[in-house]
Amino acid sequence: MKFYSLNNSKIQASFKEAVIDGIAPDKGLYFPEEIQPLPANFFENIDSYSNHEIAFKAIHQFVDKNIPDEVLKEIIKKVLDFDFPLVQIEENVATLELFHGPTMAFKDVGARFMAECLGHFSEDKNNEVIVLVATSGDTGGAVANGFLGVKGVNVVILYPSGKVSDIQEKQLTTLGQNIVAMEVNGTFDDCQRMVKTAFLDAEITNQKKLTSANSINVARWLPQLFYFLFAYKQARTKGKEIVFAVPSGNFGNICAGIVAQKLGMPVKHFVASTNANTVVPNFMKSGVYEPMPSIATISNAMDVGDPSNFIRIRHLYQDDFLTIQENLSSYSFSDEATKSIMKMIYAESGYIMDPHGAVGYLGLKEYQKSNPNTYGVFLETAHPVKFLDVVEDTLGLSPKIPPQIQKVMGRKKKAMKINTYEELKSYLMDS
Ligand SMILES: *Cc1c(COP(=O)(O)O)cnc(C)c1O
Repeated sequence: MKFYSLNNSKIQASFKEAVIDGIAPDKGLYFPEEIQPLPANFFENIDSYSNHEIAFKAIHQFVDKNIPDEVLKEIIKKVLDFDFPLVQIEENVATLELFHGPTMAFKDVGARFMAECLGHFSEDKNNEVIVLVATSGDTGGAVANGFLGVKGVNVVILYPSGKVSDIQEKQLTTLGQNIVAMEVNGTFDDCQRMVKTAFLDAEITNQKKLTSANSINVARWLPQLFYFLFAYKQARTKGKEIVFAVPSGNFGNICAGIVAQKLGMPVKHFVASTNANTVVPNFMKSGVYEPMPSIATISNAMDVGDPSNFIRIRHLYQDDFLTIQENLSSYSFSDEATKSIMKMIYAESGYIMDPHGAVGYLGLKEYQKSNPNTYGVFLETAHPVKFLDVVEDTLGLSPKIPPQIQKVMGRKKKAMKINTYEELKSYLMDS
């Protein structure tokens, strides 16, 4: 199995090369040359497989011979050591809780899988890989946790000073070992710019192997398809056609769900729910893709003005607008609507949604207005305590802090304060 660049299908790479490089030499995203559907009886008999077996069958063709089967099975076992429960909220509506991992965000799955693959690939080499990543919050924690102690890999995480939550800051600054946090005096965009500049800086790249750990990397993107299959396994017993609603920012998560559909998973429709960042909802109306500057919202992990994975979704549907419309709807919701649905669901059922999950719920309900006879699953992408301020303000209560969060709150922050790109560069050159 090869991966090709979406800019030029002649530029090809193995899974290993795609994981180590992150992006193709022509800056295109890597895409699998073929997606071979799993046999129909796999989906009919999915109850008889464990989550680990399902994950192995689903990812095997993409990893191919780059990782021995036994090693891949071990990796899957390590990555998926927590639950993915489907929790019924009301009739025909359930949430897939993706926040039972170590940092309580869905990004744990992709970050851990990528870390284990990269660790495997750098085992036999003495030149180490540096993972360089900018974060506005959740990515940093998941990457720090996933890569902690992985041999041959050093991680440098840039985050904007004063602009991530206390919990998120603790998650990325307290681990030590091979994880270095840099507190940038600036915005997320400044962090992102420094990372991009480093990737293009030949003085660095001639000496150091740099890679990124965001969802453009196939090893972070593809394993996200696992939990759509786990949800299918639980939801199919309802006997209705299934709809997935995914709160979306960079559109990596929903795109992985569409790969699960290509593997043969029966799905009626996908709903991409967004906040005030409306590039994709606009595209679904006009067929024209127009990036815009990102807008700050209370669901800030989805404040993205030019979603990097949307091009993969278009490609999955042969870039045919009608096919995309048949399979995908996209709606945008304001912060006001998000807060009022958080209040309503809490009042009606006692369930506490985080603002991202709430946006997902709203999109599902919008679709079900005209498709009532469906079973809807919206993804809860983070635990409500990860967005404590919003939840406290909106619901007037403080959710209980789970043990894995409490543990990091007591640890000491260690971050390198930097102001300029030159400081990042000299650190990377000397490390
Ligand atoms: C990253 C993130 C999202 C957006 O996921 P994409 O794959 O970028 O669309 C949604 N919710 C939370 C809590 C996140 O951390």
